[in-house]
Amino acid sequence: MSDAPKKPGRSFRIGKLTPRYGFILNPFTETRVSKCPLCDKLNFPRKFPLLIAVEGWGPYVQGKTCKYCSKCELIICHQDELEEQLFQAFTHLRPALIGADYFVIGTVETRTMKAALGGDSPGLDDALEHAADFKKHLDLEFDPGGWRPADAPPRLLEPTPPDTSWRRGRGALTDRTSQ
Ligand SMILES: [Zn+2]
Repeated sequence: MSDAPKKPGRSFRIGKLTPRYGFILNPFTETRVSKCPLCDKLNFPRKFPLLIAVEGWGPYVQGKTCKYCSKCELIICHQDELEEQLFQAFTHLRPALIGADYFVIGTVETRTMKAALGGDSPGLDDALEHAADFKKHLDLEFDPGGWRPADAPPRLLEPTPPDTSWRRGRGALTDRTSQ
């Protein structure tokens, strides 16, 4: 049962390009995922323009260096790093949205990201015209290791959101607006 392929949560596509890449948002600050969880080969850093739906903002493009397995076409993004970058960005863009829910949809073509970094956010249609949804979102299971009896199952950690400025900023927002 657990081996059954996961059905995507969404039955519609947002980006206009053909979906590509598998994606893992890694909530565990204990591991930097140096090896691919699918094929066990070494991952390499690679920068991707991530298309992120931020609640209250809409599509947002963030350039982010991720771990990447080219064989599996799998992108692994550390959640703590991503949220610190989102915090930095929205401190300038719209501080009221710090701590908002978000969802990493896919990638956009590099030139779309460059236009976005030039200052103006790309128009919605323009961003989606050059965006590709991820083929699938995968969850990471993390066993912190250590000795255990040979027949014992791995001790998997529960994924909990990392402690980031993005998440801490949510409470600060309430304080700011009530003053
Ligand atoms: Zn791999």
